[in-house]
Amino acid sequence: MTTDTATLVPTGKASTGDNLLIDPYDRHVSYLRVSVTDRCDFRCVYCMSENMTFLPKSDMLSLEELDQLCSAFVNRGVRKLRISGGEPLVRRNIMWLFERLGRHLDTSALEELTLTTNASQLERYATALYDAGVRRVNVSMDTLNSDKFALITRWGKLDKVIGGIEAAAAAGLKIKINAVALKGVNDDEIHDMVSWCGERGFDLTFIEVMPLGEIGGKARLDQYWPLSMVRAELKKHWTLNDIDDSTGGPARYVRVGETGERVGFITPMTHNFCESCNRVRLTCTGTLYMCLGQEDAANLRAPLRENNEALLMDAIDEAISRKPQGHDFIIDRRRAAPSVSRHMSVTGG
Ligand code: SAM
Ligand code: SF4
Repeated sequence: MTTDTATLVPTGKASTGDNLLIDPYDRHVSYLRVSVTDRCDFRCVYCMSENMTFLPKSDMLSLEELDQLCSAFVNRGVRKLRISGGEPLVRRNIMWLFERLGRHLDTSALEELTLTTNASQLERYATALYDAGVRRVNVSMDTLNSDKFALITRWGKLDKVIGGIEAAAAAGLKIKINAVALKGVNDDEIHDMVSWCGERGFDLTFIEVMPLGEIGGKARLDQYWPLSMVRAELKKHWTLNDIDDSTGGPARYVRVGETGERVGFITPMTHNFCESCNRVRLTCTGTLYMCLGQEDAANLRAPLRENNEALLMDAIDEAISRKPQGHDFIIDRRRAAPSVSRHMSVTGG
């Protein structure tokens, strides 16, 4: 679909032709993001408050149940799985899930198994991830300055993260760095980040801060830095050549003439990317969110625990039939509260 969101017309009830998941706007849902835990060893200022209340462990699906749910989606035509969190690599025994899901790569049912991580545990797991079939990893790192890194993540150590990134590169994983653009925080570093990534052959994606969940402290309005301004700043130093590349996500890419690497922009606030949305998000409690920016969700844990495949498939179909046209994010001065009450760590970023 290349139509603008404003012109998307529902085609009626979601159809499941050829067993695929097609939503009411004729978008094929082929991408599942899974938050395997809402816990994290960092407390990034735009993501979490310092004192978070996490889900009781008893509410969480077991790794076996997560495998069952992911596999149900793969059987229905999902081609790409991204494991996220919270911090996915702090979940106990998480490699079991990667290894298990790797079987879908062997049969080619799945095109890609990947993860988004803060890299704090990557040094330990990089080789095992590669062996499980992971080939690409997104690492979130908003600054190259260790003091600033400590301020942004509250609990993180930059050298550990860099060590994780180096281990991942050495293991053969392709790396993309994600950086949230934060006004007054990392705005003086964007050129250094382009150079740093360029020298190492990493893609770099900038993300606009989104109004998800209460974070306490500094208001998001103060952090928000539109990527149109980031791009304008980058253009002063770099040759940005527009390219059509898509990694199946919402980022728009340019190739930097001087480094040859790609820089992406994810602009949920200034540019609505919903028209081509092919994804849904599963939480560690088995709740399926059809849109990152809406509250509507479906409970898949109940049908999963009935141990009845038909019931589970019906619940998935019913959920996809409710996938909305797009999100309603707003950051403005009249709204102090977040647009969406749950944190990104619940839905998996
Ligand atoms: N812990 C892992 C990490 O940080 O990569 C995975 C989960 S984290 C929630 C996924 C992504 O969401 C990170 O790149 C993070 O920067 C981003 N993120 C979290 N809260 C955000 C917000 N309010 N607005 C924009 N991006 C956010
Ligand atoms: Fe943790 Fe990732 Fe959220 Fe930072 S962005 S607090 S690393 S889940």
